[in-house]
Amino acid sequence: MSFSDLGLLPELIRAVADKGYDTPSPIQTQAIPAVLAGRDVLAGAQTGTGKTAGFVLPILQLLAADQAHGSSRAPRALVLTPTRELAAQVAQSARDYGKYMQLRTYQVFGGVSINPQISALRSGCDILVATPGRLLDLAQQRCVDLSRVQVLVLDEADRMLDMGFINDIRKIIKLLPPKRQNLLFSATYSDDIRGLAERLLHNPLSVQVAPRNAPIELVEQCAYRVQKEQKRHLLVHLIQENQWRQVLIFTRTKHGANRLTQQLEGAGIQAAAIHGNKSQAARVKALDMFKRGEVTCLVATEVAARGLDIKELPQVVNYELPNVPEDYVHRIGRTGRAGAAGEAVSLVSSDETGLLRDIERVLRRSIPTLPTPTFKILESASPSPQRDSRPAQSGRHGGHQGGHQGGHGSQGGHGHHQRRDSRRPAAVGGRSHTGTGAGAGTRSFGPSKGRFR
Ligand code: AMP
Repeated sequence: MSFSDLGLLPELIRAVADKGYDTPSPIQTQAIPAVLAGRDVLAGAQTGTGKTAGFVLPILQLLAADQAHGSSRAPRALVLTPTRELAAQVAQSARDYGKYMQLRTYQVFGGVSINPQISALRSGCDILVATPGRLLDLAQQRCVDLSRVQVLVLDEADRMLDMGFINDIRKIIKLLPPKRQNLLFSATYSDDIRGLAERLLHNPLSVQVAPRNAPIELVEQCAYRVQKEQKRHLLVHLIQENQWRQVLIFTRTKHGANRLTQQLEGAGIQAAAIHGNKSQAARVKALDMFKRGEVTCLVATEVAARGLDIKELPQVVNYELPNVPEDYVHRIGRTGRAGAAGEAVSLVSSDETGLLRDIERVLRRSIPTLPTPTFKILESASPSPQRDSRPAQSGRHGGHQGGHQGGHGSQGGHGHHQRRDSRRPAAVGGRSHTGTGAGAGTRSFGPSKGRFR
């Protein structure tokens, strides 16, 4: 099955190919033809299944084919989402998939000034992605005309209900034309969702897909607090001590991905980078090498990793936290596929504390922060020698430029060689972080004191 088998326009197929997807996911295979045929859809699908493209692609096609709207730029498709992050992401997907079409997508959500949204809505759009509260505000101020909506999508409907949006949704639905197509996506089915689906949908196609990624609950998550400039050393330590064999590492920038790849290589760990500046061929090659186990680490930026499909990936490392919490879910959802145990480790510097908190809010659970294990500072892995800025440590280590390995973290006897050992507070957390020896190639730094939550 290919995207062209689903009856999509060449412009959409081209856009999908640009994203690097080669085959439609199960939700896409089922939903796309149904939406194109004008049917209502009830889809049990969570983030990570490719659900967004499952509704965005056919909607773009329906709107492109619809000539009846004349010069009106009132929205013809409305997507309601629970959070602004999801709204922004869905809108971005619509722009990405619609880049070879002349359709306009706009997003509105609360928490930001309403005035720019009012002006933007005045100039019109074809697809409007909105959180319910803000949309209702705009509608009540008569700043948006919902009378032309032909397709309504409730994305992550279960979360919208959890967040208490049901009344807003009801009010919004009253503003829509009665004759329209309705699509409801929900990860779970409660009685409330069933009730909503019964009222909203007419003879829907029901689609239930197994999560493409493991449910987030199956992914073991933890965070280490570490200074930004020492992240690479901690990463090398974790890879070596835990004997990780296949690690997908996320960095925020392309430059950062290249630099980290070189640093890992410098530390004797085979790594390849994958990001938007690399040609498609180079990306495919890097991915193949990673899948075959020829390189241990694949260092990726968010965007480059979007289309990656790697089966049963054991380990994801957030070398830098994403700015958008949902991206964290996407990232870690890549591990632990098909029931295999997955582990997601985040290296969090002090300036990322707020990002971690945002992620935890979206996950609705906390990510345990583990004591940072003692790790070595590898001179070979650092282009410019790093000095620890912590007074206690710089005092200890500042003068050590000769000799062998540094502190206890590098001594086998203290080992945390077993896969999970470095997580045991007793193994590392309780000890003093001061190194006892001098280091030629290496210096040791100990656990960060104090958790930061
Ligand atoms: P979603 O479930 O819509 O949040 O999508 C999850 C991730 O899968 C996103 O990063 C998409 O870009 C990506 N994706 C969507 N469709 C495909 C596909 N057919 N092949 C590979 N990746 C996809």
